[in-house]
Amino acid sequence: MVKHRKTVETLEPYRPGKPISEVKRELGLTDVIKLASNENPLGCSPKAVEALIKWTNEVSLYPDGNCTELRNALAEKFKLDPGQFLFGAGSDQILEIIAQTYINPGDSTITGWPSFSRYEAVTRIMDGNIIRVPLTRDYRFDLDGILNSITDTTRIIWVCNPNNPTGTIITAEEQKAFLKKVPRHVLVVLDEAYYEYARGGDYPESTALLDEYDNIIILRTFSKAYGLAGLRIGYAISNKEIIELLNRVRGPFNVNAAAQAAALAALGDQEFVQRSVQNNEEGKRCLYQAFEEMGLEYIPTHTNFIMVNVEKNSVEVFKALLQKGVIVRSGDIFDMDNWLRVTIGTPEQNRRFIEALKEVLQR
Ligand code: PMP
Repeated sequence: MVKHRKTVETLEPYRPGKPISEVKRELGLTDVIKLASNENPLGCSPKAVEALIKWTNEVSLYPDGNCTELRNALAEKFKLDPGQFLFGAGSDQILEIIAQTYINPGDSTITGWPSFSRYEAVTRIMDGNIIRVPLTRDYRFDLDGILNSITDTTRIIWVCNPNNPTGTIITAEEQKAFLKKVPRHVLVVLDEAYYEYARGGDYPESTALLDEYDNIIILRTFSKAYGLAGLRIGYAISNKEIIELLNRVRGPFNVNAAAQAAALAALGDQEFVQRSVQNNEEGKRCLYQAFEEMGLEYIPTHTNFIMVNVEKNSVEVFKALLQKGVIVRSGDIFDMDNWLRVTIGTPEQNRRFIEALKEVLQR
């Protein structure tokens, strides 16, 4: 057998939410809803669908590796230079590119826990070490704890804002105070996958900090509020120097042409994004009310998913919900054993989830 890298033995494959088709097949169900992967329950903009249909006649050509049109459109939207963007097959791929650009064997990175599992994976793939700083008692990133964990080997701090799985945010003020204290040779990755749901109020507009801090990368995605998770397209925003380095590591043609065309059209349909955010706000209120009626603790959320404490082994509850054709996520993967993470759905999906949960928990 060909010898593989020792590190690979320590890795675990990513565990995604169960696909609808799998649940239908395994359980013999016909009507299944998935509230497990923080996808947009309204689908995507009809303009993105139109763009996709038009695009199909270009399938024999390589895509534009620089995503020029999308880059220019985003630069205009955020009043930044087109050279400040880098695109990836999902922000997942950009996490890999960042790790490949900055992590040497033995370097370390820091993040909160529980948080998005890929920060750890991309660090360890590069033979780096991850330090997990537990969240605060109110389930937020412990920024002081993270600052206290910085050592000579620290290269990157991954800040998930809002945090997956807890839906909590760090505020603009907290972020500013934090960035002031981080040494400039440490890169801070601000993962804002849920930006469109969280923006406004106390949530930071991180792009405004790019002139002041030369050690930050902001990550955004078209997978969530734009509803294009299946096409795989996300982007990084930083200063031109960092982007130029990341671009050396990026593979050619890493973002396919269909994704670029759909993302450009989706970006032009902000009405759809607003509708998605509005649906999310209404769904959030509906779920809060249902949890309160059932006497269940939940974590108030700034995103399109909620953590709820079901006061029982969540894997059991997850399985019982599956039998009723409702796919959610059990909290064990986040070391939150009695909690479920549920994506906010359409009004109908939310009702169905609540009904199923009431039956399962007999509340
Ligand atoms: N960051 C966070 C916090 C996420 O929750 C996700 C999606 N689960 C991603 C990044 C990756 O998203 P994508 O690759 O679809 O852009």
